[in-house]
Amino acid sequence: MSADTTWLAANWAQIRQRVDDACREAGRDPASVNILPVSKTFGPELIRAAVDLGMRRFGENRVQEIRDKSAPLADCGIDWVVIGHLQQNKVRDVARLASEVQSLDRLELAEALDRRLQQEGRAIDVLVQVKTSPEPSKYGLAPEHLPTLLDRLRDYQTLRVRGLMTVATHSDEAAEVRRCFRLLRELRAQAATQGHDLPRLSMGMSGDFPQAILEGASEVRIGSAIFGRRATPAP
Ligand SMILES: *Cc1c(COP(=O)(O)O)cnc(C)c1O
Repeated sequence: MSADTTWLAANWAQIRQRVDDACREAGRDPASVNILPVSKTFGPELIRAAVDLGMRRFGENRVQEIRDKSAPLADCGIDWVVIGHLQQNKVRDVARLASEVQSLDRLELAEALDRRLQQEGRAIDVLVQVKTSPEPSKYGLAPEHLPTLLDRLRDYQTLRVRGLMTVATHSDEAAEVRRCFRLLRELRAQAATQGHDLPRLSMGMSGDFPQAILEGASEVRIGSAIFGRRATPAP
């Protein structure tokens, strides 16, 4: 047994409880909302402790971190999920190592990913990241371009489009935050009228997940509420 990680078990139980409470508040079945633990900036040892607690999928926003961590954790059967802005020159590692990309936001990236995935003989789940907030610092596809991208993505057999992802505006105004999540839900409904079946909505983080659950999140991406404060703010 290495370091004492009872605190991690307590955090994990507590966030599940808080998510369940938010579901009940929203009149939703707690089983309809998954938690994606976000392990960015945290090392393999802590992630291994998380695996021991039953976590299997981990969100990372830098491909380099997936590279660094996947080797020492190769025996854990982890599904690595890319949630951060993705540059084309990283697709080779993504195609090798990731089980899913939630930050697909442009056609050129889809093209590059598809080419590499074909070489690897793999297919992955993808979510399209939409920019629902006004901050220039936030990534994602502009909502008005979503219909076209979804249509074009039908061409790529290696990319299984499962839903949409967003990062809400950073605001103390609950209504502002909720507006971002509502927009994502409405975009999904629009897409459905064009024949796109997008069961998953990845939205909500440690600070704003209850709002996201109210607007229909199917999964919330939780970092600090599970693993603690990050030493360096992730880019
Ligand atoms: C870091 C990050 C999260 C988790 O953030 P917390 O506030 O620590 O829960 C979720 N989504 C994305 C895209 C992130 O980069």
